[in-house]
Amino acid sequence: MPELPEVETVCLALSRILINSKVISINILRKDLRWKLREKIKSDLEEDTLKKPFRRGKYILIPTFKENILLIHMGMSGQIKIRDNSKHLSKHDHFRMIIETKEKKIYSVIYNDPRRFGFIDLFGKKDFKNHFLLKKIGVEPLGKSFTNEYIQKKIIKRSTCIKNILMDQSIVAGIGNIYASEILYRAKINPLRSANSLNQNDFKYIIKATKYILKKSISVGGTSIRNHLQPDGKLGYFVQKLQVYGKAKHKCFECNNLITSINITGRSTFFCSTCQK
Ligand SMILES: [Zn+2]
Repeated sequence: MPELPEVETVCLALSRILINSKVISINILRKDLRWKLREKIKSDLEEDTLKKPFRRGKYILIPTFKENILLIHMGMSGQIKIRDNSKHLSKHDHFRMIIETKEKKIYSVIYNDPRRFGFIDLFGKKDFKNHFLLKKIGVEPLGKSFTNEYIQKKIIKRSTCIKNILMDQSIVAGIGNIYASEILYRAKINPLRSANSLNQNDFKYIIKATKYILKKSISVGGTSIRNHLQPDGKLGYFVQKLQVYGKAKHKCFECNNLITSINITGRSTFFCSTCQK
């Protein structure tokens, strides 16, 4: 599932062609994604011009000159493809937006999603804070509001384990299963520790590790997505440089102990039982 760094990278790649591009046509090929797509997206978005995309949590948001916002959520398996002047559609292409850049180049921006857990919506800019997907999202982990005081206030009296806290989108936005393991490995905190057992220093390490891991992954993503107009045009995923996630029985980079894999709330979790206390 794309997490914050992947979504941020896709946003950056989209920025290169979407800014000031005019929407020529929209094709909704399949409406039943995570929620039903509204037919009105087509009439409201055609002929409008796009502004610079930005990210909130795991959502891609593309503002328009008519004061609307196009929201794209890539769900579990969603990908965005940019194709150079091609009318060709593939299996699982559910949404296509044909745009004309200010240099008069035509591109197809296609949303492809085999499992259909993603979603696309269009709403008025004034409704941004009240949109059902955006209104309950917690702070941005790369922003200034992600502080010791903030986390402590949020988890007061909560005995949930710290890994679930990091993945709780209403507390902090954009971290999923992969980066939660990576962050806690770097912070040397055991993912099973209950949130209310952590002290000021632990939170300091977690916040520092979060910012480091996410920023580093964004820069890796930026590198691997540079050639985004390759024949497949895919923007959804890139190969991350992971230290623990998916590395069960591999040697820990710090201590040579073998990485442990456990299940927390149905999700695979990886950690080093020696380094992470
Ligand atoms: Zn270790």
